[in-house]
Amino acid sequence: MREANFLIENNARHLWHPMAHPAEMQASPPRIVNAGEGVEITDIHGKRVLDAVGGLWNVNLGYSCDPVKEAIRQQLEQLPYYSTFRGTTNSPLIELSYELAEWFKEDGLVRSFYTSGGSDSVETCLRLARQYHKLNGQPERTKFFALKKGYHGTHFGGASVNGNSNFRRNYEPLLPGVFHLPSPFTYRNPFGTIDGAEIAKGIARLFEDEIAFQGADTIAALIMEPVLGAGGVIVPHETFMPLMREICDRHGILLIADEVITAFGRTGAWTGSRLWGVKPDLMSTAKAITNGYYPFGAVMISEKVAQVFENNKSAMGSIGHGYTYSGHPVGAAAALASLKEMQRLNVAANAQVRGEELIAGLKELYERHELVGDVRGKGLMCAIELVSDREKKTGAAKDIVQKVQDVAYEAGVMVRTSGANVIISPPLIITAEDVTRIVSALDAGLSAAGGK
Ligand code: PMP
Repeated sequence: MREANFLIENNARHLWHPMAHPAEMQASPPRIVNAGEGVEITDIHGKRVLDAVGGLWNVNLGYSCDPVKEAIRQQLEQLPYYSTFRGTTNSPLIELSYELAEWFKEDGLVRSFYTSGGSDSVETCLRLARQYHKLNGQPERTKFFALKKGYHGTHFGGASVNGNSNFRRNYEPLLPGVFHLPSPFTYRNPFGTIDGAEIAKGIARLFEDEIAFQGADTIAALIMEPVLGAGGVIVPHETFMPLMREICDRHGILLIADEVITAFGRTGAWTGSRLWGVKPDLMSTAKAITNGYYPFGAVMISEKVAQVFENNKSAMGSIGHGYTYSGHPVGAAAALASLKEMQRLNVAANAQVRGEELIAGLKELYERHELVGDVRGKGLMCAIELVSDREKKTGAAKDIVQKVQDVAYEAGVMVRTSGANVIISPPLIITAEDVTRIVSALDAGLSAAGGK
């Protein structure tokens, strides 16, 4: 490793960071992470902390998952790359497709299409949804519905369905024909209630109304995260996704579950759709599919969608979409090993148990710190929202949120901030002691930032 000053200076000089202002990153250098072991990371100054971000909600098995590392090494030796464009394929990918069909059987998903990450997977779903309707004799079904506060990556299609204006405004015009419904968010919503079931019904009414207004025969799909992640960990009422499914079914609209975060146990269920008892038509996955060790994603396709493509023998049924790295053999090998390890360790069950402990700890923090306005989460996808005024729900200032993160880091735990939210999404293998560590580091951060 080059010396710290070289790294800090050249990071500022040569590198632009995603989701950050270049000037800000130059003025206040980001932490340079240099090593990972177990559930911990070490920065270039030798500071070792528990990674309660889990990479970026993806390192479900932590940083020392030898079977995944070994699978990558072996596949690099055997066949480091070959494409799966028409005419060729590779064996780890076939094996993976077999395993994924098993993994997602309960979700009714029977075919897979491969990508290099979450944004690619979302783009693939949107494109396949439009093609599905064209093949199904309804070419006018081109519009998309999505949720405010939803996050669907940053390609133009994904940004168009994205429900956060920060990811949209600078890149407009986006796709035409995209409409957003309110978020199923109890803490902040336009319905004037904190009753999740009422909010779900309210959104359903608006969706129905909009469908009637626009004409169901113009709408291709609704895309939604089963638990909204980057928008601040919004856990809908249990009736919400089933209601959306029922409305989509009644109007011939496809339901796309964006499970880039939720597909591999993070919510405490193996998939977010299963958590709510819903079978989507298409599902986007990525992130934990390779434990974050290799950029890779999979779109899972239901029997209903598959049949329409497979039964159309004309050229129109051909998939005019795909990536050089669709089905990368090294990614496939990494995914196979990750699936096996996730299952062997039953990380979904651990996420549920540890998640309950974590939420209980965060609720205690709420009792003791005025700065905490709301505590939310499902499994090991959690957030606290910081406020300067509980009554008015005014979001806390940026420097306060930053202070919480900085002090928590000093206390030995890395958390992520997003607006006024502190997001906690550790590896799914954490122990009860790790949960205690996370809560006490946050306690220290909140005490320092809240002046207590
Ligand atoms: N969809 C969801 C639900 C996500 O959380 C993310 C990434 N956080 C994406 C899509 C985009 O994935 P990627 O960053 O791998 O392109």
